[in-house]
Amino acid sequence: MINKLENYVQGAWTPGDGEGQILYNAVTGEPISSASTKGLDFAAITDYARKTGNRNLRKMTFHERGRMLRALAIHLKEKAGTFYPISFLSGATTADSWIDIEGGIGNLFANASLRRKFPDETFCLDGESHNLSKGNTFMAQHIMVPKEGVAIHINAFNFPVWGMLEKIAVNLMAGIPAIVKPATVTSYLTEAVTREIIASGILPEGALQLVCGSAGDLLDHTNSQDVVTFTGSASTGLKLKAHPTILSESVPFNMEADSLNCMVLGNDVDPGSEEWNIFIKEVRKEMTVKAGQKCTAVRRIFVPENKMEDVWKAISTSLSQTTIGNPLNEKVRMGALAGLTQRKEVRSQVNKLLATSQIIFGSLDSVELIDADNEKGAFISPLLLMNQSPFNSAEPHEVEAFGPVSTIMPYKNMDDAIGLSKKGKGSLCSSIVTGDNKIAKEYVLGAATHHGRILVLNQECAKESTGHGSPLPMLVHGGPGRAGGGEEMGGLRGIKHYLQRVAIQGSPTTITAITNVFQPHAKPNLIGEHPFRKTFSVINVGDQIVTARRLITSKDIDDFADLSGDHFYAHKTDTDFSETMFEQQVAHGYFVLSAAAGLFVDGSEKGPVLLNYGIDELRFTKPVYPGSEIYIRFTCKEKTPQEQKEPTDIPRGIVKWFVEIFDETEESVGVGTILTMVRI
Ligand code: NAP
Repeated sequence: MINKLENYVQGAWTPGDGEGQILYNAVTGEPISSASTKGLDFAAITDYARKTGNRNLRKMTFHERGRMLRALAIHLKEKAGTFYPISFLSGATTADSWIDIEGGIGNLFANASLRRKFPDETFCLDGESHNLSKGNTFMAQHIMVPKEGVAIHINAFNFPVWGMLEKIAVNLMAGIPAIVKPATVTSYLTEAVTREIIASGILPEGALQLVCGSAGDLLDHTNSQDVVTFTGSASTGLKLKAHPTILSESVPFNMEADSLNCMVLGNDVDPGSEEWNIFIKEVRKEMTVKAGQKCTAVRRIFVPENKMEDVWKAISTSLSQTTIGNPLNEKVRMGALAGLTQRKEVRSQVNKLLATSQIIFGSLDSVELIDADNEKGAFISPLLLMNQSPFNSAEPHEVEAFGPVSTIMPYKNMDDAIGLSKKGKGSLCSSIVTGDNKIAKEYVLGAATHHGRILVLNQECAKESTGHGSPLPMLVHGGPGRAGGGEEMGGLRGIKHYLQRVAIQGSPTTITAITNVFQPHAKPNLIGEHPFRKTFSVINVGDQIVTARRLITSKDIDDFADLSGDHFYAHKTDTDFSETMFEQQVAHGYFVLSAAAGLFVDGSEKGPVLLNYGIDELRFTKPVYPGSEIYIRFTCKEKTPQEQKEPTDIPRGIVKWFVEIFDETEESVGVGTILTMVRI
């Protein structure tokens, strides 16, 4: 009796009807479970996500969502050990499983940390505000709010954990729920992780649903407030992207598909050099990690034509040292493909490649294995192919064999290398190994239009490099053209895919009231008590004081020059000011700011302000000459609470202050935003 996977929908675990699709152990070929979504009501599932999950998440602030993700990451980290034995069933080695499991959890942590870049609000501002009128009464600001729908993630089979976590981390941060549909063949691992997530009780009701098996008519129930992400083959992607509901409802659709990623050896790199060894090692790693079932794996290797033989021999030697077999055996470095269907597919794709290439390492039919049976398990040998005429062959640039398969090809000069890299018609990532930064620059700027990410590897960074094949949460993952034209992750950018941007227009006072960020020219709250005597919770955005005036003298400027050591000619009285920007001795900008602080700071007695936290922006807009009288308009611009790391930490928040400095003619001489840390 095999275990039947369950779907987690509408707040309950439920198996689908019927026997379902049988899922097999990739190593032994034994059936391990079955999956079915038959009988699920996808209309009700999407409705539940929107009405329950979305409602629960959107009322949380970014900071609350970030802390929720962090708690989830910590919880899964504690449980990570239980996922490895399940991951081995998919043919993954310990190292492969680490990328999937710990990589996925790391992604949760990274996204959780992004909360600090957002306000403690349910929405965020996007970009700068725009003054739209001469009289300063009309302005605009873009803001972003969570969409009202659900994120539907249709994932590929190769990373059953990372594939889910990297995507839900982002939509949960944005405040929208997810329905995850992993590829059926490895969905048993996604199901196990989802069980832990649900059991933890960390996510609010409706935030996550899982369907293991066919997507049924799920896409029929999407609308423009949803976001559909797809990772998989280009053919399936195209079919789904052209789904009538996706088109008619203008549903945002992010596609990550086949990618013929390439790696280039710079022509400055000679056999035996450090960069040479880096290149060979990286190629082997990219071919064999996860048995080549990585969307980012290197499929095309471009090498200066006079180094072809040395390179393929070195790669072949390196590949021959890769031990293949049962991931449970500690000696094994490369495991199996996800299943026999996948092996059949890889063989068929390699046969297409062989129309214009030849195998120079490995065999399509046989492979030496440790503790495994080639008939029962989905094993395949690493295959290095060679194509001598890459400009005249379409296959190596168009046919993806989703396994440990790469083709080595010669290039004559850098223009050729760039041209060849573009023949992939858009990829997720490309690398170049070179110790020459001129070559690096030429390649990066020449090839940038066709790749989502470019890695330049050399001896300076190789040791700490995250490698060609690792998408990182803070960097964009996706690529143009064949790679799907999609974009995911990328730090704040990724989260914004799930937010709706809207330009709001109105008076500065209204925009301040809506955004909770003080806008220049908004009506202030003129307060009697100095704001430095108020605690964080009592200060209001818009609280404003106007200070007394201070006369700036030539002696002040001389004294500041002596104190700071800044004797720039413009601050001296005996300078000939012809052909300078100034008429006479001018005050240091930093002196003007210091004098401003002398006017707006109140705190000779201990009070709620704990420290000066820094300056965000600062501009000096008009020279301040001796005899000028300056005064300050000092306004609370924004408040952000800070988390207490230790119970002994003083509860506190950061207050941003809008500092406007004027002279006796009422003209602005400087403007800035300064930050203070204030007791709650
Ligand atoms: P696939 O066969 O295209 O399947 C991808 C996903 O689509 C699976 O969840 C699959 O579900 C689902 N699907 C298939 N037909 C569907 C339909 N009619 N309606 C709704 N969903 C449907 O791809 P795969 O074999 O799993 O993955 C291998 C491919 O993924 C490779 O080509 C690889 O390059 C690509 N990939 C790309 C990236 C990237 O980031 N660019 C990452 C990983 C993989 P079932 O499993 O239930 O059929």
